[in-house]
Amino acid sequence: MTALPHPDLPHADERCPCGRGAPFGSCCGPVLSGEAPARTPEALMRSRYTAYVLHDEGHLLRTWAPERRPHAVTFDPDRRWIGLEIVSASDSGLLASTGSVEFVARSTIGEDDEALHERSRFRRDERRWLYVDGDVLP
Ligand SMILES: [Zn+2]
Repeated sequence: MTALPHPDLPHADERCPCGRGAPFGSCCGPVLSGEAPARTPEALMRSRYTAYVLHDEGHLLRTWAPERRPHAVTFDPDRRWIGLEIVSASDSGLLASTGSVEFVARSTIGEDDEALHERSRFRRDERRWLYVDGDVLP
């Protein structure tokens, strides 16, 4: 069996890869494991960034709006995610059914640094936030 090198799941006490500054076990960890669905679009955005860091395809697919969901997510083993910055996030309270998050996700691939600047759209189905799509910004 050939498997891509898979990043190790951080220990619950380690800083979460999303950069919020909280331990993984009380940040994106429970969202990725399904124990605690994301309560806000920003939390879902953070967990999806962390899923890219950890190559967690299942979480990405589960949290994608079905009409936009790809069949698979491929991870480039040469890409290393180095930081997420939330630029702004909609104030999505308990009654909100849509939300948006603008972010910059930085990565390196070989010698190159890349920054993805995107405004993502989210919507709530029942009680779960889903990623719909996003516009890439300059
Ligand atoms: Zn996190």
